[in-house]
Amino acid sequence: MIGGSRPFAHVYVGMLAKINSAAVMGIDAYLVEVEADITAQIPKFSTVGLPEGAVRESKERVQSAIKNSDFIFPSRKVTINLAPADVKKEGSAFDLPIAIGILAATGQILREDFSSVVLLGELSLDGSLKPVPGVLPMALRVRQETGCSLVLPLDNADEAALADLPVFPVKSLREAVHFLENGRQSAPHKVDLGKVFTESETYPVDYADVRGQEHAKRALEVAAAGGHNIILIGPPGSGKTMLARRLPTILPPLTLAEALETTKIHSVAGLLGPRTALVATRPFRAPHHSISDAGLIGGGRIPRPGEVSIAHHGVLFLDEMPEFRKDVLELMRQPMEDGRVTIARAAMSLTFPAQFMLAGAMNPCPCGYYGDPGHDCKCTPTLIQRYRARISGPLLDRIDIHLEVPAVKFKELANDERAEPSTAVRQRVARARGRQIERFKDHPKLFANAHMDTRDIRKYCTIDADSKTLVRAAILRLGLSARAYDRILKVARTIADLEGMDSIQKVHVAEAIQYRTLDRQAG
Ligand SMILES: [Zn+2]
Repeated sequence: MIGGSRPFAHVYVGMLAKINSAAVMGIDAYLVEVEADITAQIPKFSTVGLPEGAVRESKERVQSAIKNSDFIFPSRKVTINLAPADVKKEGSAFDLPIAIGILAATGQILREDFSSVVLLGELSLDGSLKPVPGVLPMALRVRQETGCSLVLPLDNADEAALADLPVFPVKSLREAVHFLENGRQSAPHKVDLGKVFTESETYPVDYADVRGQEHAKRALEVAAAGGHNIILIGPPGSGKTMLARRLPTILPPLTLAEALETTKIHSVAGLLGPRTALVATRPFRAPHHSISDAGLIGGGRIPRPGEVSIAHHGVLFLDEMPEFRKDVLELMRQPMEDGRVTIARAAMSLTFPAQFMLAGAMNPCPCGYYGDPGHDCKCTPTLIQRYRARISGPLLDRIDIHLEVPAVKFKELANDERAEPSTAVRQRVARARGRQIERFKDHPKLFANAHMDTRDIRKYCTIDADSKTLVRAAILRLGLSARAYDRILKVARTIADLEGMDSIQKVHVAEAIQYRTLDRQAG
């Protein structure tokens, strides 16, 4: 019965159709019931429970899609009710359930009971279906709360199937009607989660591509091993971005649970590519310094995740860090402290996970060439001081490693020996992380050295008298601020973990002292 107008359509006026759907809120989802009611009154298409803007566009798509799929849009009063009414809803995923509701209420679908299916999808004017964001959280909710099958756009099928429920992809409104009338004619869409996970676990970049910069690579290894935030300071062209971009490749591989959590955020943010089921590698996010607070932290009328959440379980890279608006940078302090961010709006308050490693980059001075033997820097000490002060003390306090990245020497670039691949570094990092997990096994929220507080530092980072003298001398000689002391101990702990040693040695402390450039009070 697919195709062709159905002459009996108008006879069924007065029916009420109920269709199941779902919507996202934050990174979780809830079930929505779409009711379509057709009454014999002056033609009017009205919607209850959707905000005005979303409704206008949805109505237009649904009307055109119905007509262009050779069905009849009733010239009657059509009322769509979305329940629960008290939750703010938005988005285009209701197009398909609304259209099916109208067709059911006008007797254009040969099926009466829709209670065993949940429908999602945006309609194009021509009746084809387009993917929608947030499918993974919605699919997980459907599986938890119902025994329903999920009917949705083909491009969302892999993502939905991760939730392990019967998924039936369709390409158009007509295909959806055909499925609903005839039932399944093929097996539900399946993905092999384990296979998807291992196949998408590789990174497109590698430290093997980076020649020279051994000192910088070592510091990045230390940062990765202890989960320490890092800032790279160097002239333009020294490769700061290239070095930072490869940081995810030496972090321990994502666990499946972490991958699912990150995928939910990317799904809600609309960042999963078509036919992409899973984010299986650690994200690397590099927002431009002109980003707004909502873009970085999250926000909007119905709050969406910002870059700090999209980088969850991965790396947030802020290039040209002093160029970011100071008030925007300050907003990062809460997520850096708590590993999540709460966005309060008049309509609602939502919490998104935001556990990321921060990698910042900056020039050493406004012109970029301070300390560079190949170029003259014309910046005055006052200008340099003011430039560096744009990153506030409290924010700098959360960055354990300050790394100077010099311009690459020509000799190093010309060397065509391949550098050590990321997988080799990652193995050392994973061993060091393993030691930390073992050490902190009685602390539920502590799993990397970077997250130790002052009490933990006193307990786990004891050093001998010799090392203490060394740190004190460094603080005096280099003019390091007092707050540098705890950072040095934490980083020294990580360096000892990389060496597989229980006690922190003087040589570990000495290396950690090098990573406090920005604490030096002399410009
Ligand atoms: Zn300069």
